[in-house]
Amino acid sequence: MSYPPSGPGKTAPKLYQDFLVFDPLNAGKSNVLADFSPPVGEGVQLAPAIGSCKHDYTTKQSQSITPPLDLRPDGTTHYKLATICKKCRVHAGVRVNYARSTNPCPNSEHPLHHFRRVRAEDVGTQERVEFGWQCSAPQCRASLRVTYRPSRIQPEQKDLLTNTELLKRRYEAILQQEPTREGIRQATPLDCLSRLRKYIKDSLKPEHDKRVFPANNKRFMEAFGVHGHDCQELLQWLGFKYAVSSQNNVLLPWISLIEEAGARANVDAAKPAASRRPVAG
Ligand SMILES: [Zn+2]
Ligand SMILES: [Zn+2]
Repeated sequence: MSYPPSGPGKTAPKLYQDFLVFDPLNAGKSNVLADFSPPVGEGVQLAPAIGSCKHDYTTKQSQSITPPLDLRPDGTTHYKLATICKKCRVHAGVRVNYARSTNPCPNSEHPLHHFRRVRAEDVGTQERVEFGWQCSAPQCRASLRVTYRPSRIQPEQKDLLTNTELLKRRYEAILQQEPTREGIRQATPLDCLSRLRKYIKDSLKPEHDKRVFPANNKRFMEAFGVHGHDCQELLQWLGFKYAVSSQNNVLLPWISLIEEAGARANVDAAKPAASRRPVAG
């Protein structure tokens, strides 16, 4: 990449403020994060587009590398922050890399980073939008990337999981299939989401021994239909695998991709299930 990047820049605190208010799902014509307001008095200041989410970000600790207190970075240092908005579910990430630095900010000449845009490093795909920046201080030149990924669960998938009419039909289908089975009840939308979360969470724990579970589990069927068939496509897209037991032709488990949990640091990345390596045949 050519150096130095030219044009206006933003100090780190300003960029942080813009990061907090920028809504990639509702960017409008001007981009409050990646574009620059004119000097005060010389034009309209950029503002978040009307209807932008007032994000409530929470940090995904397991996917973040945050700076230890008072650590002075050197050329090998890199940090990353992974967050998700609790309202719009957008995944936002910030990565800082000091590979080009010999005397990083803050120092006597440059008390703050001042980041200029490196548009050549931008990425814009359906799965990911990324903005590139570099600090203008000649001995710092810290590289900064701000990345956004959309919600993992799409609106139609959310409807599949939370539509009470569908949950009622699943309940009735179980009763029809197994009229003598006790303890069946209609799942609420929250039940369905909580159970999906638990199955994913359990399957990603390397120490967890429940890699498989029967597809005729009551709580599973209440949420996802008889043997999970109503949500089969969604579950497989998330990485679960359906198998049939050799014993009595009883339907058996959804098998989670547990071996990949450690390597797949960004569990929430919009990664097509087809690209993942199955654990068991
Ligand atoms: Zn949001
Ligand atoms: Zn700097």
